Amino acid sequence: MGISMEPNKGMDRITLKNATYYSDQHDFRLADIVIYGNKIEKICQPNSQSSDHVIDAKSLIVLPGLTNGHLHPSKELYGGVKAFSSISEVLDTVHRNNHLETEELQGLSSLYSILHSLRQGITTLGIFTSRAEIDAEQAKKAGVRAVIHFSQNDQWLGRESKPSSSSLEEVIKRYSDCVHTYESDLIKVHPATASELSATPELMKELHKIAFQENKKFVMHICEGKSQVEQCISHYGKSGIQVLDKLHLLDSSTLLVHASTLSDEDLHVLSDKKVNFIHCPVSNSFTGAGRFPFKALIHNKIGLGTDAAMVNPFHKLAFDAAFSLYFHGESNLEEKVDVTDIVDSITKTGASALGLDHVGSVKEGMFADLCFFKRGDVVVESQDPSLLFLDVILSHHPIHVMVNGEFVILNESFLHCDFNLVSDHFLQNKKWGR
Ligand SMILES: [Zn+2]
Repeated sequence: MGISMEPNKGMDRITLKNATYYSDQHDFRLADIVIYGNKIEKICQPNSQSSDHVIDAKSLIVLPGLTNGHLHPSKELYGGVKAFSSISEVLDTVHRNNHLETEELQGLSSLYSILHSLRQGITTLGIFTSRAEIDAEQAKKAGVRAVIHFSQNDQWLGRESKPSSSSLEEVIKRYSDCVHTYESDLIKVHPATASELSATPELMKELHKIAFQENKKFVMHICEGKSQVEQCISHYGKSGIQVLDKLHLLDSSTLLVHASTLSDEDLHVLSDKKVNFIHCPVSNSFTGAGRFPFKALIHNKIGLGTDAAMVNPFHKLAFDAAFSLYFHGESNLEEKVDVTDIVDSITKTGASALGLDHVGSVKEGMFADLCFFKRGDVVVESQDPSLLFLDVILSHHPIHVMVNGEFVILNESFLHCDFNLVSDHFLQNKKWGR
């Protein structure tokens, strides 16, 4: 089971021999998987390949690396402070405390959160942050694939404490600087604003234009509960969805987080649009913010996010995925989401909603982002494959995790970071009841 090798040094080709993997077609298959550079090069008949570096994968289950489409890693500091609370209270605490957190503390919190994600087999993150530089630094350190949603604002229409705000020129300048400093194979920076209350129509249009030109997504929280919707209506006379529609921003260059309180009119507006969404079921239940109509909007690209940490004490993507099965359709089976769609939302569709192609499935030509679980006594044929997928990630930690063709975790140990040290340091700094 244990793999012993010089981690990735000078290894051109790795063959995973006799691997049982979750395929693009939502079933488990047996194959030899050849990884060359950062991609899955070939998937062949089992026991057919031999190369210099062979990993006997007979006793492993290989899953595509998971995608958590939305989290705030530096807010890990507040994780577990409460079991639930209102969105206004959450925003107030976040905005009020923002200036109290030192850069060092934010960095530590962020690194802990990212490593904690990798340990769950999450290889791609959508990191929403107003301090993109700090989070990009930590993502780089951890070796995860990340899209940094750099959130900047130029107004605040809400009743809650005001988040930081800059002029349109300053916003664009800081965004461009961040792109030039941090973008790499693994790290992308996309333009974002906090919500429909935090940006003028001019800024929203400008950020969307940048996203379109750079083949990225313009990201924002939207319609997150009654209070946010009401505040938007009292200013614009219409909901956030309708404001975006009027500005012609509801298209595939836009990624909306939450959309958990939508009116019939909002749904009508969205019915012929192709927008990307990130659904955060635990967060929405935590803040009483309503329920994203997953089934009604299934024609869009929908990813799942934990929105961790403040509004998600467990910060476990697998729990959000399992919760999605039962959060929806509790009194009407028509509203149930297929388990295959839920698995896709935390793998290939989730990655695609973030604007990442070739990420999230075990298929030739895809990036080699994989997590490996001990096969143990799991009988693959005994359960619906997608349910088994959820069961595995809900009950176990992966033994190895690979990002972009390189092992980040091998035999349950991080290769580039000392997780225990980071974890101890972080937990000592985390104060309950801030
Ligand atoms: Zn969020």
